[in-house]
Amino acid sequence: MTTPVDVAIVGAGPAGLTAAAALSRDGLNVVVLERESAAGGIPRHSDHLGYGIRDMKTFISGPTYAQRLTRQAIDAGATIRTNTMVTGWADTTTLEVTSPHGRDQLQARAIILATGARERPRPARMIPGDRAAGVYTTGHLQNIVHLKHGKVGRRAVVVGAELVSYSAVLTLKHAGCQTVLMTSKYPSPESYGVFNLAGRSPLMDAHVATRTRLVRIIGKPQVEAVEIENLDTAERRIIDCDTVILTGDWIPDHELARTAGLDIDPGTLGPATDTALRTSRPGVFAIGNLLHPVDTADIAALDGRHVAGTVRAFLDGRQPAGQSVPVQAQAPLRWVAPNRVRVGDAAPARHRLLLWTDTLVRIPKVVATQNGKVIGRRTLPWAASPGRVFRVPSSILDRIDYEAGPVTLALVND
Ligand SMILES: Cc1cc2nc3c(=O)[nH]c(=O)nc-3n(C[C@H](O)[C@H](O)[C@H](O)COP(=O)(O)OP(=O)(O)OC[C@H]3O[C@@H](n4cnc5c(N)ncnc54)[C@H](O)[C@@H]3O)c2cc1C
Repeated sequence: MTTPVDVAIVGAGPAGLTAAAALSRDGLNVVVLERESAAGGIPRHSDHLGYGIRDMKTFISGPTYAQRLTRQAIDAGATIRTNTMVTGWADTTTLEVTSPHGRDQLQARAIILATGARERPRPARMIPGDRAAGVYTTGHLQNIVHLKHGKVGRRAVVVGAELVSYSAVLTLKHAGCQTVLMTSKYPSPESYGVFNLAGRSPLMDAHVATRTRLVRIIGKPQVEAVEIENLDTAERRIIDCDTVILTGDWIPDHELARTAGLDIDPGTLGPATDTALRTSRPGVFAIGNLLHPVDTADIAALDGRHVAGTVRAFLDGRQPAGQSVPVQAQAPLRWVAPNRVRVGDAAPARHRLLLWTDTLVRIPKVVATQNGKVIGRRTLPWAASPGRVFRVPSSILDRIDYEAGPVTLALVND
């Protein structure tokens, strides 16, 4: 059965819920589809402080933040259907939906994809060794500990030393599991200095082994140890543990974007979007960590606020002003989002381009070039660091020439 609505939003995380609240306040008929049993996205699982800073001007726990966002969307008039997974497309404006009530279709005048991102699991990371129990991603760990109140082991090795890795350490501590070691392939931990200090302190009880990779998991049927290797000396050692947490290494939940045939950005692996958050298909928009895997929840939420204006314009029949040009990142920058700029569009959310770097640069100098010509240059007072989003003012593209082809953003030394 097909029930037409104004806007269908796939995913009830911070991005989808914020978009739902903004569009429902305009009197639009908005339905949010969420495969989990409750709305809230990742913050619902992430029971520690650190949420809501930029969008709500507060500092609250993940579950509290998730509840507030859900309440705001419902109070604004949005319908949230939980236990409802979008499994495909019946046509360009109709979603295929599966829930405990069976299979259904939902037709919408506009569709917003807000499906988030996930950490790559062990098979995708190709970690050799025994197929032992006790290997989790942070998301899986937090689901077991915070939502199901289940147990993990007593001694953990955490692979990664970025913000999410410290979130894993906190969850392990809460579950009575000691983090005996964190590993990072980088020369210094990816997270902010304050976390790294904490990482060496008794507070977090975790030491970071830098320039290190996990080469083997040992144990049957349960993890008994891991083997790690120093990337510079090739020296290997065995660490006794019964739990391994794989953190970071994000991939967008992009299956619906792919099956729709949307243009995919080769850097983010999410749908390519312009600064107004339109995808390559008219009437389909994308927001949140699906586009930038991953930034903080408040940035995902602010995407939701930003896209509302674009969706309203689309529903009012206003067409985008003109052509767009791609924006791409040059190594060690891995990706940039949004990754298209269109004539006549406003700046992206918070006037920021979001980038990811594979190398630490403490005082980054960023150059935008087009057809070999420099069109913008910025020296930034904040570091470009692996494991967290690097923000660049979108004004670096103010002198873009829409006839001159793709723009490249690069880090330079001069
Ligand atoms: C361990 C951890 C700790 C973190 N700590 C912080 C922190 O302290 N502060 C902070 O600001 N940020 C933190 N973050 C980041 C923050 O959680 C994310 O930025 C935020 O959740 C992204 O929001 P989103 O709406 O884009 O995606 P998500 O929160 O991932 O929500 C996407 C939703 O889409 C649903 N979905 C996906 N596919 C489908 C489908 N086909 N059908 C129906 N539903 C679907 C998912 O079930 C999910 O609920 C943390 C992240 C992690 C993993």
